Amino acid sequence: MTQEELFKKLIAHCKEYGFIFPSSEIYDGLGAVYDYGQNGVELKNNIKRYWWDSMVKLHENIVGIDAAIFMHPKTWEASGHVAAFNDPLIDNKDSKKRYRADVLIEEWMAKQDEKIQKEVEKARKRFGEAFDEQQYLATSPRVADIVAKRDGVHKRFVEALDKNDLVELRQIILDCEIVCPISGTRNWTDVRQFNLMFSTQMGSTADGASTIYLRPETAQGIFVNFLNVQKTGRMKLPFGIAQIGKAFRNEIVARQFIFRMREFEQMEMQFFVQPGTEMQWWNEWKNTRMAWHRALGFGDEKYRFHDHDKLAHYANAATDIEFNFPFGFKEVEGIHSRTDFDLGRHQEYSGKKIQYFDPERGENYVPYVVETSIGVDRMFLQIMSAAYCEEKLEGGDERVVLRIPACLAPTKVAVMPLVKKDGLPELARQIIDDLKFDYNVSYDEKDSIGKRYRRQDAVGTPFCVTVDHQSLEDGTVTIRHRDSMQQERVAIADLRRMVDEAVSFRPLYKKIKE
Ligand code: ATP
Repeated sequence: MTQEELFKKLIAHCKEYGFIFPSSEIYDGLGAVYDYGQNGVELKNNIKRYWWDSMVKLHENIVGIDAAIFMHPKTWEASGHVAAFNDPLIDNKDSKKRYRADVLIEEWMAKQDEKIQKEVEKARKRFGEAFDEQQYLATSPRVADIVAKRDGVHKRFVEALDKNDLVELRQIILDCEIVCPISGTRNWTDVRQFNLMFSTQMGSTADGASTIYLRPETAQGIFVNFLNVQKTGRMKLPFGIAQIGKAFRNEIVARQFIFRMREFEQMEMQFFVQPGTEMQWWNEWKNTRMAWHRALGFGDEKYRFHDHDKLAHYANAATDIEFNFPFGFKEVEGIHSRTDFDLGRHQEYSGKKIQYFDPERGENYVPYVVETSIGVDRMFLQIMSAAYCEEKLEGGDERVVLRIPACLAPTKVAVMPLVKKDGLPELARQIIDDLKFDYNVSYDEKDSIGKRYRRQDAVGTPFCVTVDHQSLEDGTVTIRHRDSMQQERVAIADLRRMVDEAVSFRPLYKKIKE
């Protein structure tokens, strides 16, 4: 199965099993807007809990807030979003499709890297044991050609972004002979800038309504509350403020399912530090956040850091954590050192002093900020991509199983009476009544046990508990494990402890803290 086929299947699976539906589907959907279904919302809530607790519960010096989506319009002037929250866009005149110019060029560069890798693999086969990759890279004329071309384009690209030179961006696209994937032609328009913020009106027009924006990031709600939290919480630097909430961006190219949406959710933490210590904290948070991802156990090789070529107007260091999605390595999280830009600008635009009195240094200053910013939806896609698995079973059967880490699984236990009579459903209900105070538990009595197992595998339920006639006699049930499909006989009285251990977030938190 190609990665493309896998991705298509994943999208279909998300819909068929109540994880994600296109928004307002009965009206044929709305571009790049999605709804989470009955299983999706549970997984999403568990992701948020994993993040929230790893920030707020595990760190004495991090607290949370929940700011409004609407903010005073001046916020976005201060933050720079009104002037500079732009993407360079380009249209293909034949297909009428719109692309981000920077993304087209980045994809071209990634292709050159793939070419180099292919040459290396070919040479490795040719030379066998004696192959020395470094020597090959340094001496092969073919590789040297590709590297020179790639590096040349990279240099021009970074300069063009820095100078906001849209003509040069277009020229790079032409020089690299980049074609539209739909029409296959190089018939491109000029590159233009496009502001990504959605706007709306607040108040009735008669009263002189004002234009306000739907926030394009949650971070600003944290910055404007810096003093409120610092004073009321008597917080001392370094400390962090965490927030989970919706953000909105009128994305030009909304593709790849929930990877790039127009309405999405962010989990952001702004960590306020003494100026001069920001690089140390930036490194620290890079490592902590990578550990948080890796603790899920999908394999360390699925993640990498990608340092930014062009720093945003507010940053002095920035990296992304990228995950290997079915469509390649792409950003799931950004870790940015934002300097004193945001607080400084809000101080300037509001005319209010936003400073911290440092008792150690005996002075007032505007703190520096290190931010960790991750999309809930991209995290959701990461988990689904890594968890989706098609397996051939003994006897020619097949199953689709979602190997979602048990702590994140939407339903933890499905309880099933072997038959719908003889008091088995009643006992199954009793078990559910005991477990449901602690976990999401489901009941299923329809179809054969085999079919019921398949249904639970497909939504990632870690445990199926079967109640049979023996259960009535000796108070034991069969528990079946999703991943191994192993079954064991256990006492009903032991179920809670077993499930408790398996679905706990504790081992993950311990790994992060190591
Ligand atoms: P990209 O380069 O992919 O547009 P970005 O660098 O603009 O992303 P940030 O502004 O750093 O993204 O936002 C932080 C996080 O928010 C991203 O790492 C991503 O997980 C999430 N995010 C941003 N835009 C979207 C979107 N349109 N849909 C879903 N998640 C998003």
